Amino acid sequence: MNDQNAPAPHTQDGPRRPLLYGVGLGPGDPSLMTLRAVEAIAAADVVAFHSARHGRSIARSIAARHIRPDHIEEPLVYPLTTETTDHPGGYRGAMEEFYEAAAARLAAHLDAGRTVAVLAEGDPLFYGSYMHMHKRLADRYPTEVIPGVTSVSAAAARLGTPLAEADEVLTILPGTLPEEELAARLASTDAAVVMKLGRTFPKVRAALADSGRLAEAHYVERATMPGERTDRIADVDETTVPYFSVAVVPSPTNAGTRENTGVGEVVVVGTGPAGPRWLTPETRGALAAADDLVGYTTYLDRVPERPGQRRHGSDNKVESERATFALDLARRGRRVAVVSGGDPGVFAMATAVVEAAAEKEYADIPVRVLPGVTAAHAAAARAGAPLGHDYATISLSDRLKPWEVIAARLRAAAAADLALALYNPGSASRTWQVGQARELLLEHRSPETPVVLARDVGGPTESVRAVRLADLDPSEVDMRTILLVGSSQTQWVRRDGAPDLVWTPRRYPEA
Ligand code: SAH
Repeated sequence: MNDQNAPAPHTQDGPRRPLLYGVGLGPGDPSLMTLRAVEAIAAADVVAFHSARHGRSIARSIAARHIRPDHIEEPLVYPLTTETTDHPGGYRGAMEEFYEAAAARLAAHLDAGRTVAVLAEGDPLFYGSYMHMHKRLADRYPTEVIPGVTSVSAAAARLGTPLAEADEVLTILPGTLPEEELAARLASTDAAVVMKLGRTFPKVRAALADSGRLAEAHYVERATMPGERTDRIADVDETTVPYFSVAVVPSPTNAGTRENTGVGEVVVVGTGPAGPRWLTPETRGALAAADDLVGYTTYLDRVPERPGQRRHGSDNKVESERATFALDLARRGRRVAVVSGGDPGVFAMATAVVEAAAEKEYADIPVRVLPGVTAAHAAAARAGAPLGHDYATISLSDRLKPWEVIAARLRAAAAADLALALYNPGSASRTWQVGQARELLLEHRSPETPVVLARDVGGPTESVRAVRLADLDPSEVDMRTILLVGSSQTQWVRRDGAPDLVWTPRRYPEA
C-alpha cells in the first residue's frame, strides 16, 4: 500500500508527533535484526526503503515478515546504478536531486505526524543510503538511529577467523578506491576488509596481490543471505562477483605470517626522523612483511613488535657487517628489512647494503631501497622553507672522511651561495667541528645569515629556533641536531606570539 493521502494517525492525546527511524536490519538473515529494529517497524506508519530501478529491495526483503498491509510503503528508487547519466550535474548532480526528492517525500509524511522507518541493510550509518536522508531530516524531526550488525561482522563470523586482536589495526576500505591507494593501505595495515566488490573485484584482487596479501585474503559473498558463499580471493571467478560481497584479510596473529614465496630479499628502509607520523605507508608495509629486522637498536626500537618476527639489533658502528649479515639471511629465503632513521640513503644503511650487494657473491639477492623522510626536510618544514632553493647536504662527521675534505666542501658550497643542511654536526666526542664550520662559512656569508638549529625534530624534546651565523654556539649542538644554514637570499622574520619564519626565495633578485 502506498497512500500519500492517508489521514494523520491520532492518539487519545491529539495528533501524534513525527518520528524518523533509521533502522539497521543486519547483513541479511532476518533473525539477525535487533529487537529494537522490529519494534521500530511495528511502531511505524510508513516503511521506506531504497531500491534500484528493477524495484527489488534487499532491505525490504530482510524486513518483509514485519511489514503489514496497513504500512504505507515508500520505495525510494535510485534513478541510476551505473555512473553514466545525461543529468547536467553528472552522476553527483543526479544523485543529489534524487536524495532531495526522497527526503522531501519522507518530510511530507513526517509533517503529517507520521512515524517513518527507513530500512537500511547492515548498519544505517556505515556506507548506507539512509545517511543521505538522515543528513537532510535529522535536524528537523525527532530521529532515532538503530544500529545493525554490519557485513564486516557477518563476514568474519562466517569465516570463523578472528578479525583483529590486541594491538592489531583493522582497516575498512571501499573497493572503489584507486588500485594504488588500496595496495598502499593493504600493505600498511594488519587486518582489512574491502567492501563494495562487484565490478571493482579485479582491481581489488590486483591490489591484494601487489601488497603481498592475496594468499591470506578470503572472500565472502552474501554473508547470512540466501546464496551465501565463501572462498579464497585467489580462487574466485571475477565475472560472478556481486556487489554484496567483501574481501577479508584477517588478523595476522591468527593467519600466520604473510605470504613468503621462499625467495628472500633485503629491503632497506628509513623510519623517518622520529615517530610513526613520518613513516611512509610503503615502509610500514615492508616492516610488517619482514621476517627479520636488522639495524641500530635505537631505530629498531621505533618499530612495533610482531609475533614471529626476529630482531637483530646492533650498535651504530659496524655497517658493512650488518649489510652482509642481512644479505646472508636473504640468501636463506628470509625477507629482511634493514632499518635506518630518516631516509636510508642519507648518511645511512642503503649505501652499505648496496655496496655489499654489488659484490659477485650476492649478485642474485634482490635488494630494494625505499625512500623516507630525511631530517633536513623535517627540520626545514618546521622553520618555514629554508631549503626552498638550491642547497647542499654535508655531514660534519670526520669519522669516515678527513676534515680537509669537509672544509673544502663547506668553502665551495659557501662560495656558490648554496644553503646548507649540516648532518652529524657534533657529538660528545666531536665538539670543535661546528665552530670550525662557522668560521669557514663566515669567510663568504654575512654574520646575520640565519641558521636553523633543529634538535630532536618530531620527538618529545623537539626544539627548533633560528640564530645568527655569528652567534652559532657549538655547545648547543649534539647528535640529535641538524643545522640549516641560509644562503645570501634567505629571509628571517620574527613574529609576535608565533614562531619565527625562515625561507629562501625561489628566485634571485636579478632573475
Ligand atoms: N638517515 C638520516 C640521517 C642519519 S645521520 C636522515 O635521513 O635523516 C644522523 C644525523 O641526522 C643526526 O646527527 C642529525 O644531524 C640528523 N637527525 C636525524 N634525526 C633527527 C631529528 N629528529 N632531529 C634533528 N636532527 C636529526
